Amino acid sequence: MTAIRTVLGDIAPDDLGVTLCHEHLFTNPPRWARERDHDMVLDKVDAAIGEVADFNSLGGGALIEMTTEDYGRNAAGLLAVAEASRVHVVSASGYQKGIYYPDTVATESVDEISRRFVTDVTVGIDGTSARAGVIKFGTCRTDEIREDERKVQEAVARAHLSTGAPISTHCQAGTLGTLQANGFADLGVDPARVLIGHLDRNLDYGYLREVAQTGVWLGFDHWTKPKYPSDELRVSCIEQLFAEGYTQVMVSGDLGRPSYQPHHGGSPGFAGLLKQIRERLPAEIAETVFLTNPREFFAFTPTETAA
Ligand SMILES: [Zn+2]
Repeated sequence: MTAIRTVLGDIAPDDLGVTLCHEHLFTNPPRWARERDHDMVLDKVDAAIGEVADFNSLGGGALIEMTTEDYGRNAAGLLAVAEASRVHVVSASGYQKGIYYPDTVATESVDEISRRFVTDVTVGIDGTSARAGVIKFGTCRTDEIREDERKVQEAVARAHLSTGAPISTHCQAGTLGTLQANGFADLGVDPARVLIGHLDRNLDYGYLREVAQTGVWLGFDHWTKPKYPSDELRVSCIEQLFAEGYTQVMVSGDLGRPSYQPHHGGSPGFAGLLKQIRERLPAEIAETVFLTNPREFFAFTPTETAA
């Protein structure tokens, strides 16, 4: 029996509902990053509950919360939001990307790093009852995967192979998707268990097709952001992918800043995001990317091996 691992426990895939595949309810990056950019910290439980309630009122069912330990993951906060709402919340293990890694990445072995991820998935995060339902991997450069990131990629692959939890990635400015995909394949990971994220920062159709041909899932997770490629271009790329049979696509907004969330004084929020994507995508494609695909991709057969 497969299940989707939410912070409140495992659920049947059919119960997941309309899902945003890459979001943030809480963030708290390292101090050097916060000092450089004052729009990075999400730390208000009440505001997060408000955002999620608005999303639910428009039919939203689940958020995959992709904040990792090195970016200020808040397991207690996620539990509070999930308990106060009717939206499923899935939390992430793994790390964000090289520039945010904790010092332990340099000193620990691949096995030691992997064991941290396995503990998040099988035991709980930071001593709470919340378990992670996805493992994150990210790259911070646009030209190559850093040495320390290769080490973490191996640890992520191992944790995935031992727990079954799917892998979701961060591609800096949408680049290196093929490299990430091939790297996981070389480490023995089935491409169908990997979601390559932020590809819509880099809407070159030839590149998208190349990534799709590896068999991974494609994350179009930067909708509604004026500083990036337009939603019209997103829609035309998704339609072309579907027309060619590449339907392993999921959507989100990656709204990980106060300025993106109404309860923190920003816009559009998860509700506004859901509304705008629905208005733009043909109904049949919307159903696939919001509902059918997430419940397939995020489901796994949990192994109960303790770390
Ligand atoms: Zn993100």
